[in-house]
Amino acid sequence: MATSDRAAASGDAVRAGNTDVDDSQGENGDQRLSTIFEVAKTLAKQQDLETLLSELLSVVIDGLQAADAGVLLLCDPADQRLAIRAAMGYDLASLSRIRLVPGEAVCGKSFQTGQIGLYRTPEAIAAAREDLSPDNSALFRAAMRGLSDAQSAICLPLSCGETAVGTLMFENRRRCDSFGPAALPFLQALADLIALFVDNARLREELQATRALEEGNRLKAELVSILAHEMRTPLTSIKGYSTALLMDDVSFSPETQREFLQIVDEECDTLQELIHDLLESSIIDAGLMRLEPQPVRLPLLAQRVTDDIALRTQKHHFLTDFVEPFPIVDADPNRIEQVLRNLLDNALKYSPEGGLVVVRGEPQEGEVIISVADQGVGIAPEHLNRLFEKFFRVASPLGRHVVGSGLGLPIARTIVEAHGGRIWAESHLEQGSTFYFTLPLGGLSDGYPGQRGGSD
Ligand code: ADP
Repeated sequence: MATSDRAAASGDAVRAGNTDVDDSQGENGDQRLSTIFEVAKTLAKQQDLETLLSELLSVVIDGLQAADAGVLLLCDPADQRLAIRAAMGYDLASLSRIRLVPGEAVCGKSFQTGQIGLYRTPEAIAAAREDLSPDNSALFRAAMRGLSDAQSAICLPLSCGETAVGTLMFENRRRCDSFGPAALPFLQALADLIALFVDNARLREELQATRALEEGNRLKAELVSILAHEMRTPLTSIKGYSTALLMDDVSFSPETQREFLQIVDEECDTLQELIHDLLESSIIDAGLMRLEPQPVRLPLLAQRVTDDIALRTQKHHFLTDFVEPFPIVDADPNRIEQVLRNLLDNALKYSPEGGLVVVRGEPQEGEVIISVADQGVGIAPEHLNRLFEKFFRVASPLGRHVVGSGLGLPIARTIVEAHGGRIWAESHLEQGSTFYFTLPLGGLSDGYPGQRGGSD
């Protein structure tokens, strides 16, 4: 609402600088300067708006001898109601549910008129609150339960240029007439500073939301184009081999037929993996990944996954090496299996000449470290930090295209971090790579096999 559109001052309302009111009971120049300094320091902090407003309110109340409680309300642009965004000296659970229409009660009035509301007595405050809606009135009574009533109050409009953004109200619960005219210009300057900041913070939030939306749209477009591109390779292969097998005028030996079908089968697996990564990534993006932790025997789990992956290759040898006895960890076995499968899949994919793949596990102080090492193409140092970014793929390190989504490692990282662990890689070009991840020990995890059960 534009300040200039607001109604004229009510009986209790005064403009900043008006000296018709009793003198201030406290703050001197030095104190005000120091309060402004503290406010400026708080405003300069990089934190979210909610934390910042609470801190601001407490800084101002600490600096104002005349105030012992206060609330800061901001107008919600969605419904034009005033909502409490910070409060000191109230029961916040009830207070934070109050939503005022412009003109309602002490804060609504200053918001609507754009003028300072000065309330010298409890009666003046009570009169201004008479028009509180029944719901707001009940919430307000609950917020004040066990607290003394305000004896005097001051309510300052928070406006930025023509735009009203909210109100700031201070109360004194010990004496009447505690806010005097000498303090008004200072208080209004403080309110203007806060309003300016709130307006800027909101603009920043809007900008961030727009950027996040744009980034989300960009990522989606990128995802579609990457997947379309990546799916083309296995699909072309599936189409080619199945068309060949279906040709009436060509006959293939049973061995060749089997070889073709094997390729079709493998390419279907590749497609399935791409679709799986895509689904997992969207589940994670939607914040829907849930962990179901239970005691897990990692050596058994790792052995089972490695044996399974080993069936897919004849070029690679596998070794699992877990320190005995190995502590039981609290983890979601399905999710940890997913991480191991991804690391082992990559170990195979990026070591096309074959070689040894080692899955190792050892307990360390407060955690276990699992690693998967291969003797493959390796990763250049400048790429190591980017491996866990969505869609990051090292461009054709093998001279031929390896199908992938660039989503496997980011998914693995999300899973490991959700368990409280870390994941990283070490590598030397053309010598191989080792991927490590940790899982914390603690709580139930202090046990060793034999002390209690555990699934693989
Ligand atoms: P994808 O394998 O589907 O591309 P990932 O997120 O699993 O996606 O891996 C991202 C990139 O990291 C891969 O494209 C590859 O360049 C590199 N990378 C992952 N694992 C290895 C490995 N064991 N050896 C060499 N490069 C790897």
